[in-house]
Amino acid sequence: ERSKLKRLKDTPATTLDGEDVSLLVNIEGPKDVATARSVNADGVGLYRTEFLFIGRDTLPDEDEQYEAYRSVLKTMGKRPVTIRTFDVGADKALNGAARPEPNPALGLRAVRYSLAEPKMFLTQLRALLRASVHGRLRIMVPMLAHAHEIDQSLALVDKARAELRAERIKFDESVEIGGMIEVPAAALALGMFIRRLSFLSIGTNDLIQYTLAIDRANESVAHLYDPLHPAVLKLIGGTIQAGARYGLPVSVCGEMAGDPAYTLLLLGMGLRNFSMHPANVLEIKQQVLRADVGDLAPKVQRILKMDEQARVREAVERLAG
Ligand code: PEP
Ligand code: MG
Repeated sequence: ERSKLKRLKDTPATTLDGEDVSLLVNIEGPKDVATARSVNADGVGLYRTEFLFIGRDTLPDEDEQYEAYRSVLKTMGKRPVTIRTFDVGADKALNGAARPEPNPALGLRAVRYSLAEPKMFLTQLRALLRASVHGRLRIMVPMLAHAHEIDQSLALVDKARAELRAERIKFDESVEIGGMIEVPAAALALGMFIRRLSFLSIGTNDLIQYTLAIDRANESVAHLYDPLHPAVLKLIGGTIQAGARYGLPVSVCGEMAGDPAYTLLLLGMGLRNFSMHPANVLEIKQQVLRADVGDLAPKVQRILKMDEQARVREAVERLAG
């Protein structure tokens, strides 16, 4: 089975009816790029940069960050590399400075943390922009919920650009800035994201956690964590369709994108960009190759109107024929 999948490595991910699909990878650092290349991924859809300092006490400085980003961009060559700004929470303390929080998933994490530590944020943005000359960088901001969070993040990007210009340091002026849709409020107020950003990526891991009020790391409620809950599907489907309507690229980079049980469903919603653990790429490609999106789309439209989980589950299983 593995060796059969391996043969798909150089086959383009195109559906039966000729729709091209991008299969991207999630990585945690330069060490993962070799695996990304071994499955011939179309790019990096999510580089989780917080792994740069997990397990150490000090923040990586601008040069150390620059080296890591440059290395990934260079190895991926012309393929897009989406680097997410730090997604740290109160549970992952920086310099031992953060105070413990009773409810870290709802606390000062991700973009909230970065905006509370603007020096740290600016350092990361400078390192990213400096690295941008070595490949095709896209910068992605996690856990956005408010327009002012986007505006403040974009203002810091502009500040980083202005500093680099003043220092005569080259960077790619066309680097796109995008955001993650992983808070239900964001998926329900997409206009403010679409107006300000160049691309969106749906973080289903957090989107499910926050929609269903299930701590994604808590075993005792894991049985209630259901990607096929009708409320979850409405948020995902709505985001993909709004992106298509306004011409903004949308990807899914949560675990759902790497699970073959959901590939046909996501394709039928209109998704064309999947980002996943490198180990899943070929299996997802196999699903893409057998899909006919013209046939799937109306079936999935009907699924999106269902409000009984059991019916949804049955209908999703039937998509596989
Ligand atoms: C997500 O929330 O789906 C996601 C991709 O980000 P992370 O798993 O790093 O929170
Ligand atoms: Mg997330």
